[in-house]
Amino acid sequence: MSLIDSLRTALGDDSVRTGADIGARHQGDWLIKAGPDDIPLALALPRDTTQVSAVLRLCHAAGVPVVPQGGLTGLTGGAVPVRGAVLLSLERMRAIEEVDAIAGTITVQAGVPLQTVQEAADDAGLLFPLDIGGRGSCLIGGNLSTNAGGNRVLRYGMARELVLGIEAVLADGTVITSLNKMLKNNAAYDVKQLFIGSEGTLGVITRAVLRLFPKPVTTSTALCAFTEFDRIYDFLRRARAHLGGTLSAFETMWQPFYARAVEGRTQPLATDAVAYVLIESMGTDPARDGEHFSALIEKALDDGLVTDAVIAQSMKETKQLWDIRDASGELVQKLKPVGNYDVSIATGRIQAFVLELSSRLAARWPGAEAICFGHLADSNLHMFVKVDERPFPEHAIDEVVYGCVRDWQGSISAEHGIGLLKKDYLDYSRTPEEIALMKRVRLAMDPKGILNPGKIF
Ligand code: ZN
Repeated sequence: MSLIDSLRTALGDDSVRTGADIGARHQGDWLIKAGPDDIPLALALPRDTTQVSAVLRLCHAAGVPVVPQGGLTGLTGGAVPVRGAVLLSLERMRAIEEVDAIAGTITVQAGVPLQTVQEAADDAGLLFPLDIGGRGSCLIGGNLSTNAGGNRVLRYGMARELVLGIEAVLADGTVITSLNKMLKNNAAYDVKQLFIGSEGTLGVITRAVLRLFPKPVTTSTALCAFTEFDRIYDFLRRARAHLGGTLSAFETMWQPFYARAVEGRTQPLATDAVAYVLIESMGTDPARDGEHFSALIEKALDDGLVTDAVIAQSMKETKQLWDIRDASGELVQKLKPVGNYDVSIATGRIQAFVLELSSRLAARWPGAEAICFGHLADSNLHMFVKVDERPFPEHAIDEVVYGCVRDWQGSISAEHGIGLLKKDYLDYSRTPEEIALMKRVRLAMDPKGILNPGKIF
């Protein structure tokens, strides 16, 4: 029996597609599409863990590569088809299995959209804090396998910190069920962490137990303008001390980003500052939180730390402020061709890095522009790089950006992963010993190398 026939027998005819029936959507992620030779063999759409295990067992026996796919909103090509592969989509595994309000957990299947997890937590009076722009279309399994970050990392951590238990299927079909609900569990290796952030190269996540938190009842949001960048660091220190654990976002937008993002929108502050910070605090005391937050902003204005500021007075105004920050998704489309970067640099050195990188870019391409924004408190800088040269010299810009990151001991990937896009630069941010260990782990878990081959390494 052929592999396709075996897959159809195991999953049912309607769950295995080939040829044109695979559909365009599965041919790439948000930014990267498969090359003309990277034609997949089939698309498998399992309904449960047993079927995921069957797909892997059959592909393993046949030596056929498997590319796991979630919501296909990734930015580094981690889910892009490789030639002759079976695409394994988790999108039919959409059940929310349990909310445990006492343990503070939600147990979900890998194909649940992030926004649905957030809403289920909200319905139970709790908060699932992971939040990224693609919330409506990304799937939680993909969020975990890429260790997604987003806007609230400074308070709640990245996806990795929000997981108590994982069920995953190994390359040979073995199911590892580790649906732990306990916050403390030091019974030897924490194997679930192997599957988080490994981009589907060590196993396919099928279910997870996620942490839920008390739902904040107040949200205070402000946009602040700065005429000197270094004052942002002082403001961050002050905000942390003043707001303590309630500080939930500290998003920074450099002027070139802000000016473009407010085009065609309500413009809450003039576009002539050096940089802008969207600061948010989420608390549990309606009588006090708003005033406490305003006091921080007012004092910073009085002291000349912040040049100008606007505090959102309604949910509508809060959304308007966030829409400016979230304009990054539209901007990357509007600015094409453009280099799109996600890097980490120690927080206190970010502006010095931006200046150094800008001068290296300008030396090579006069008029080059780095349009910067990011999660400053998390040391995470996002950048769009525009240069005039055509055809667009993407690889040459990568060399300049990642070379600068290497020189500053930063990370070439803060939150987007490595996928296809950054694998040539992994050794800019990881030592040869670290990479050798990663490869040994991979070889131990998937000796035939069928899981998402060609990604990361
Ligand atoms: Zn981000």
